[in-house]
Amino acid sequence: MNMKALVIEKPGIARVQTVPVAPVGDRDVRIKVKVSGICGTDVHIFRGEYLGAYPVIPGHEFSGVIEEAGGKVTRFKAGDHVAIEPNISCDNCHACLNNRQNFCEHWNGIGVTLPGGMAEYAVVPEKAVFGIHTLSFLSGAFVEPLACVIHGVERARIRPADKVLILGAGPIGILLSKTVQLQGVSEITQVDRNQSRLELAKQSGAVKVCASLEELDRDAFDVVVDASGSTFLMERALDFVRKGGTVLWFGVPPRDGKLQLPAFTIFEKGLSLLSSYTSVRNSIQAVRLLEKGKIDVTPLISHQLSLEEFTKGVETIEKGIEGVLKAVILPESAKKS
Ligand SMILES: [Zn+2]
Ligand SMILES: [Zn+2]
Repeated sequence: MNMKALVIEKPGIARVQTVPVAPVGDRDVRIKVKVSGICGTDVHIFRGEYLGAYPVIPGHEFSGVIEEAGGKVTRFKAGDHVAIEPNISCDNCHACLNNRQNFCEHWNGIGVTLPGGMAEYAVVPEKAVFGIHTLSFLSGAFVEPLACVIHGVERARIRPADKVLILGAGPIGILLSKTVQLQGVSEITQVDRNQSRLELAKQSGAVKVCASLEELDRDAFDVVVDASGSTFLMERALDFVRKGGTVLWFGVPPRDGKLQLPAFTIFEKGLSLLSSYTSVRNSIQAVRLLEKGKIDVTPLISHQLSLEEFTKGVETIEKGIEGVLKAVILPESAKKS
């Protein structure tokens, strides 16, 4: 059996090709992909700025329907609606055995080192699959990014009544805001240069929004979360966190990015400085939050594209044009010309 797949042949070159569908092993399922989100990581893979082997079928944020389940699969059957957790850990290395599967020494990533969801079908191991039940496929494509956000929020140990500042109001900034609100914080302030994003931040529960750091009180926030990955904002986060507070650097910085931080300020303010890398078994939480309507991701979807339009989607994200938030690929849809 063959399928249409978007293949990144080498950095900068992505084409829709006809390729064979992988055989379904005993512990695998074949998913008919319905929605596959384009993430910053896909942009990096396309630009050759990420580990990963070429050629690769990208797509690590996807949902679909199971068409075939291998003989030893226990949790799923044909017809089940599912989303995936793309990080495949070996479960047998030092990191995995210490519950740090995100740092697995033999890590593989669906859509990074293994074929992903920007295709009509994806064959993946059962352990990477989660039932999404009645959740829509569009929302199901957010299980992976939301799982990463949940991991970050857990690391920041946000407490009831905390005042939280979030730098950036793109899709990840909004997911962070909504997840932080579920911790019972007293208020969220959100900063972004883009006015339409600030509108969405307000609608998503931020009490205060502003376009400039100069409008913010210094030393005022229990927790400051950077959702941008900009090294400038990562540094400035330290100005706004209170003494004894926490900074969570969540956004992905440039690979060669460097920070210049005031060492004595970090000491004097007694700061907790945290980063967050992918997720650690947070997909069930993500599915529940989406399924129970605690987090509604539909306002985040700005572009629904065909496989042929992947490069256009990447460029739209890079340029930040057309009010872009989250662009998703619908592999079944034909190119609209
Ligand atoms: Zn992603
Ligand atoms: Zn491992």
